Amino acid sequence: MSCIFRNGKRYDNTNMVCRKCGKPVWESDDSRYEYQCFTCNKDLHSIEVKEQDGLHHSPVIVGRHINGITLNDLEWLLDENGAERIFSNQTEAEAFLLKNGFAEDDLKWMIFLEVEQETDATR
Ligand SMILES: [Zn+2]
Repeated sequence: MSCIFRNGKRYDNTNMVCRKCGKPVWESDDSRYEYQCFTCNKDLHSIEVKEQDGLHHSPVIVGRHINGITLNDLEWLLDENGAERIFSNQTEAEAFLLKNGFAEDDLKWMIFLEVEQETDATR
């Protein structure tokens, strides 16, 4: 399960995408709607989304709560330069963790945060 943070709130991946722009949608903050698309900046009903095809391919960084306590801050997996290590997708991140001594059970406590990709339009 991957997620993003917006204004300090966590949104879990719904495995659905927006029919209009094809980007992943997230749980709506508005109880009248099921989903919302941050790209279109719109709340959506379930007929306005469709299931995501195959695996989710957004780049992610991997975090966990310090000492496994959810109230603590998150610590992020770093690369050899001390920067947050970015994986090209969650599957790749999981494979890396398993190879580096984590058990399947440990992965449940990991947070796979999608790295928002800047597009030319936002610059
Ligand atoms: Zn959209």
